[in-house]
Amino acid sequence: MSTPLYVATTNAHKAQEIRAILAGAGVDVLVPSDLPEVVEDGETFRANALLKAQSAARHLGAPALADDSGLAVDVLDGAPGVYSARFARPGASDADNNALLVERLTALGVTDPAAAFVCVAIVAAPDGRVIAEAEGRVEGIVRWPAVGEGGFGYDPLFFHPPSGCRLSELTPEAKNAISHRGQAMRALARDLATGATDLEA
Ligand code: IMP
Repeated sequence: MSTPLYVATTNAHKAQEIRAILAGAGVDVLVPSDLPEVVEDGETFRANALLKAQSAARHLGAPALADDSGLAVDVLDGAPGVYSARFARPGASDADNNALLVERLTALGVTDPAAAFVCVAIVAAPDGRVIAEAEGRVEGIVRWPAVGEGGFGYDPLFFHPPSGCRLSELTPEAKNAISHRGQAMRALARDLATGATDLEA
């Protein structure tokens, strides 16, 4: 029997990736449509993931999973980091955020700057308790101009050396196999599958 688990995200791309990654672990992902707005004012990916997971679990009266993720570029001291989704401005499009990133890096005159995508995933209980958490990270290089049509966000600018291409050029399955979100979700799924994390508790 599969275990239902609410996943708190308004990002359809992320929801699709999480559903695909957790499907094999016997977790039936439910995406609620009416979650309260959360002000993501944490200074770390973990703090924001916790805010989102606790808010959703409290609202739903059931355990909820949330993730917070983003791109950290070494020469930008970890920016855009927790501001990845709103780097150019609140509500910015992926194209706007990518353009600002290229502008910043071009101004520094750097070539092939190192970067990493980071994801922290947390399952919280309605009382706020952390049931499970995991972190994933994928290292790469920021390259421009943008290449590829797949994925979302900064994928067209993120060159992954072991794959020899941008994340946007990978199939969804290949991206999930190596991505920060894939790693974090699989670690959570392992806990759920082995019973180390009991969603009923
Ligand atoms: P969040 O929804 O608050 O976690 O913000 C995540 C933001 O980080 C996204 O809007 C993207 O800009 C960026 N991001 C996170 N994961 C990825 C990814 O897998 N590919 C490309 N960009 C990502």
